[in-house]
Amino acid sequence: MELIFCSSNVNKTKEIQHKVGVSIQIKNLLDLGFTGEIPETANTFEGNALLKAQFGYNEFDLPCFSDDSGLEVMALNNEPGVYSARYAGEPKSDERNMEKLLLNLKGVKNRKACFKTILLYIDSNGLKHSFEGRVDGTIINEKRGVHGFGYDPIFVPDGSDKTFAELNMEEKSTLSHRAIAVQKFVTFLNSYTK
Ligand code: IMP
Repeated sequence: MELIFCSSNVNKTKEIQHKVGVSIQIKNLLDLGFTGEIPETANTFEGNALLKAQFGYNEFDLPCFSDDSGLEVMALNNEPGVYSARYAGEPKSDERNMEKLLLNLKGVKNRKACFKTILLYIDSNGLKHSFEGRVDGTIINEKRGVHGFGYDPIFVPDGSDKTFAELNMEEKSTLSHRAIAVQKFVTFLNSYTK
């Protein structure tokens, strides 16, 4: 079975492919030769996930899914949230985003944060299905680790002493927000395709 993932993010595609296993082949927008960017103009994760999945469904006329994720930091009124990718402005940069976040948290005691994902699937009948994943954790003061992307080097999930960037893909894919949403999606697909 093939599924279109309405994203050009190669890291995410690898994480999701790893999670769904070999019976489902994930094709992302780059695999389909689409190099444009889908506007993410909604102000919720749900809204942006729907924009992306709907774009793919209209463009390719095939079942599609998309995800929209971000980091919410409690002491910053849940910022950067839907603006996680461009927190420090254009051009988007993980390094500058982390610097800005650490600056905004300088001297702040409450370091609680969570990553959230909404995965939105539009099936062959055009019906929409939504799956949520969340992982709580802490923002540390310095960057640690080389794996992953985004805010991984400064996020320590609850119950661990390692940042997301210190976990390999196997380890991250057991506990990340995206992994949780994808696991719910896979469970749904397995029951749905029987
Ligand atoms: P997206 O809209 O789902 O692509 O995610 C928006 C932004 O949230 C990304 O560009 C990252 O900055 C951040 N983000 C989402 N998921 C993760 C993750 O697993 N680790 C680190 N940062 C993430």
